[in-house]
Amino acid sequence: MLIFKTLLLALAAEEVFSIKGGTPDEFAEFRSNPKLRTKKRLKNWEDIWKGGGVIYQWDHSTGCPNPSSDNCKIVIDAMRRIMEETCVRFKERSGETDYVRFVLAKATPLPAPRPTSCSFVRRTRQEQRLEIHQDYWQTGVILHELGHVLGLQDEALRPDRDATISVAQKNIYSESLKRKFDKIPTEKFNFLGQPFDPDSIMMWPKNMFGKGRTRKAGYEETITSKRSSVRLKDSLNEKLSDSDVARIRDLYRCDEANQKPRFPVDTACSFDDHRCGFKGLYDDYSFWEWIPWKNNYNQDNRGILNWYYIVAKKECNDRMEDRTWSVGYYGLSPLDTKRGPEGCVTFKYMLRKNYKGLHTIRLMMRSLHSPLDAIMFTETSSPGVEIWSTDTRRLEEFRNNRWIRASVPVNVQSPFLLHFESILEENGAGKYSVKIDDLAVRYTPCEGAVSDMRFKCFSRKTSRTLPRSSSGTSMGSPRNRGQTFGATSKVTMNRNMKT
Ligand SMILES: [Zn+2]
Repeated sequence: MLIFKTLLLALAAEEVFSIKGGTPDEFAEFRSNPKLRTKKRLKNWEDIWKGGGVIYQWDHSTGCPNPSSDNCKIVIDAMRRIMEETCVRFKERSGETDYVRFVLAKATPLPAPRPTSCSFVRRTRQEQRLEIHQDYWQTGVILHELGHVLGLQDEALRPDRDATISVAQKNIYSESLKRKFDKIPTEKFNFLGQPFDPDSIMMWPKNMFGKGRTRKAGYEETITSKRSSVRLKDSLNEKLSDSDVARIRDLYRCDEANQKPRFPVDTACSFDDHRCGFKGLYDDYSFWEWIPWKNNYNQDNRGILNWYYIVAKKECNDRMEDRTWSVGYYGLSPLDTKRGPEGCVTFKYMLRKNYKGLHTIRLMMRSLHSPLDAIMFTETSSPGVEIWSTDTRRLEEFRNNRWIRASVPVNVQSPFLLHFESILEENGAGKYSVKIDDLAVRYTPCEGAVSDMRFKCFSRKTSRTLPRSSSGTSMGSPRNRGQTFGATSKVTMNRNMKT
């Protein structure tokens, strides 16, 4: 019976999906009966970000993350505007393979009518470059491009635009740019039940690609309104319109009855092809670095260099401590009744010491208002609460290269940031290093966390195939000071030994 019902629903979905023509609200039926909603209701379902979570990464060209950079602030502000009105969430990359990279286009002189920015108009399941020229690094442009990233299409290219606007071909700067005004075919456009909206973030300014020499002098109008009630603007809109909000909510099923709390998701980072968003890994003045593993197992000289980790190295004694810190992580969705409030941070570490000196590695957790606030974190920010630390007294035992697995219970109800701190005790001189690898953040308790955790490197041809053994040890101690984090005092460790 259930199968029959599902089949019927699927058929119904297919039928409505194939209706064409007019200014259709192809999904009116789905709207009135949310139970009918299926994946097929969208023409580009596969382009939608899973769970409404958009992963982004800063390119070095942007100068981000840097709390004083205007470029960073503009992007963060645009993300906030979308997050305030919809269930979409932006998270900085911590090892995910599918993400948007913000790139500042090279500051070459622009041709008069600008290619202001470019992005692939959808999710691509790999790195997606969102390139924007410095002159156009503005809220409206960023919002428009983020609209594309989310799956929205250009309003000026709607198949039904002729009822509202016309394109002045003669005012378009060049022949090749004329093609950019071609309408999108009906079967490829998601109307999402919304009529033409001149206030949409996806609507081009009326002088888009218009003839003219300089921005100051102005460009000729390429889009004109056919209706007195529809006023076109000189620039991209800096505020989401009601229909933008409705479209995004519809695409990502933000209405409470249908919304599934799939974000945040667990993240696992092997550091192999990415530093997982860790900051403070500077070669010149930080102890912390992101470096490849080198060892003797690579007898046939193949592949092993893909294995990276982060490490704090100290070879002289002019400075006592240093830190590296993570991206901002989300707290649990309030809709999520199945997970939390206890989550788990797991990682493995290796201590190495030569000569004299004691050193400690501490893991701190810092509360954030929003994961986007991680951008405000710097070396001098208040570190938050210690949730785990090595026990220096037992250091001797671990002088050899041995990976030790740590799993630390944490409260994941609100947004947070993690950071590792390495401290050389006073009078400590000599060399030491602390390596960290395979970091995971889970939204479920630590029980069983280690065994089923998957890191990408395990599936690689070039990955480690080293002998492993494990046994329990009580090295390391949780710091439960009755504060926000580290809700329980249980810490379990396994030792993964590489010989
Ligand atoms: Zn566009």
